[in-house]
Amino acid sequence: MLVFKFGGASVKDADAVRNVAKILSEYQDDQILVVVSAMGKTTNLMETLVNQYITGKPTTHVMDQLKEFHRTIIHDLIGPDSNQFYEVENLFIELECALDTDMIGRGYDFVYDQIVPYGELISTRIISHYLNQQNITNRWLDARNFIVTSSDHRRARVNWDTTNNLISKRAKRLIEKQLTITQGFIGRTADNASSTLGREGSDYTAAIFAYCLEAESVTIWKDVPGVMNADPKRMEKTDLLPDISFKEAIELAYYGASVIHPKTIQPLLKKKISLYVRSFVDMQAPGTVVQDHGLKDVVNVPCYIFKDDQVLISLSSKDFAFIVEDNLSHIFSALASAGVQINLMQNTAISFSICANNDAVRIEKFLNLVKDTYLVETIEDLQLLTIFNPSEDSDLPGITKGKQQLLAHRTENAYQLILQ
Ligand code: ASP
Ligand code: MG
Repeated sequence: MLVFKFGGASVKDADAVRNVAKILSEYQDDQILVVVSAMGKTTNLMETLVNQYITGKPTTHVMDQLKEFHRTIIHDLIGPDSNQFYEVENLFIELECALDTDMIGRGYDFVYDQIVPYGELISTRIISHYLNQQNITNRWLDARNFIVTSSDHRRARVNWDTTNNLISKRAKRLIEKQLTITQGFIGRTADNASSTLGREGSDYTAAIFAYCLEAESVTIWKDVPGVMNADPKRMEKTDLLPDISFKEAIELAYYGASVIHPKTIQPLLKKKISLYVRSFVDMQAPGTVVQDHGLKDVVNVPCYIFKDDQVLISLSSKDFAFIVEDNLSHIFSALASAGVQINLMQNTAISFSICANNDAVRIEKFLNLVKDTYLVETIEDLQLLTIFNPSEDSDLPGITKGKQQLLAHRTENAYQLILQ
């Protein structure tokens, strides 16, 4: 059994969906579960929709954009009969009903999870229908019936026992019989609300299913030749990493390499399920395999990882007192309760600095928890550069040209810089 994952870019328009059909047609003899993301940049649009709703602004304009985008793809793929495509029209109506209910009291994260999953629900309906029309017979599966999570909305944690039970007992039988299409990124809580696994969570979904299905491998189909040692949009010369150990993949993901979601590797590692990252543009290209090498390092070039939109928060004691264990414990519990993700931290005698993703809602919540106790300074619009496996000739000046270094941090296998 194989698990394939197609991300937003691989289903961004009608041609892209046709290409998915082409790839799947080459695997007619295999048992396959296909995990699909929302089309193109739909999740960003869904987030705009959430923001409109939360701030009490009209949602019609964004809804129109959402409908227009998908109807165009449907029309292009399915042709003149596409007006009859009620499955997607029904989802639009369901979503409008959700926007009409008053959920604001449940908080931003809950609201987000009731709205954003429609991106995935719509994309999989379209793709499943189109594939069936092309005689790539398949079944549409609602991932929310299988991926059961905690109620930590927007970063839900998988309830492994329930999920494993449902997938291995129920989903597996279906997938053995027929090609199956399901959504990435989404799940449901024990009380039947929708939940999401965090942005870019579809890779993780693929890994969860693979784990529970005891799949042979997971393949992530991407618009790049495989995992590169840097983002080609940011650096002129990049190298393909043909082989990566699970341990290195976890480290790369931890530092923010966007090719593989941080949580994706763990379930695969536990069952030693290899992960292939392959190009959906060039099916002949070898791509990258992430596989078990124990603790051995197989990556032998420096890897450059950029994280944008970072905020540097420096907390210092109001009376020049040392920052000691009690302070750290207070700061960490505030970070945890606000859900702030720390990318780098450093402490000196009287201050403690954190570099984090600048998620406005969470950062504000955190600052409110600490501002009475500490002097707080924040600097926004920063970039975090991590050089994993740095070498003598890691081209530092070139990349950092024109930028000011606010902080540098070196560990055994990585060199990190905060740039302004
Ligand atoms: N559609 C979601 C996102 O864009 C999940 C994913 O693509 O992995 O974050
Ligand atoms: Mg996406």
